[in-house]
Amino acid sequence: MRKATILGKPWKASETVVAAGQCLCGAVEIEIETPARWAWHDHSGATRRAHGAAYATYVGSWRRRFRVTKGQADITRFQDEATGTIRSFCARCGTPLVYERARSAHMVNIPRALFPGRTGREPHYHIAIDQLQDWTYLGEPLVPLKGYPGVVWTRPTRNSTRKKRGTVQTRNV
Ligand SMILES: [Zn+2]
Repeated sequence: MRKATILGKPWKASETVVAAGQCLCGAVEIEIETPARWAWHDHSGATRRAHGAAYATYVGSWRRRFRVTKGQADITRFQDEATGTIRSFCARCGTPLVYERARSAHMVNIPRALFPGRTGREPHYHIAIDQLQDWTYLGEPLVPLKGYPGVVWTRPTRNSTRKKRGTVQTRNV
């Protein structure tokens, strides 16, 4: 607990800036005190499957700065016996909520996408970049798909950048 004072007045919890987030169905709500400890993109196979997505972006928070503010009873957990990692998710809608790693007992990692607002950290770091999938969208130019309003696509070219870069690419993004 922080003991800081401002102009001699006792520190109040209301002065802490929090970032609040929730799962898809809204049963679970969480919050962290900002700024988050760090943020990164995780390209590992385990996280890819757990999220059903090309990769997941996490914000890491000290455990003591993280709270479940609603829906604790709706949270269920999966422990990976091989690695000791624990992934918690909403039992109603399946949204991944917390990723805990055995090596970092004091940290909890939360999908960045759960927070509509700012968390105080930019995701400058990548884990398992060697597992980046060649179908991951990386910001290639997009053009409208004729006849399908709202759909854009990457127009194939003879010298596709995707073919050139292979499964691993290291350009700055
Ligand atoms: Zn939910």
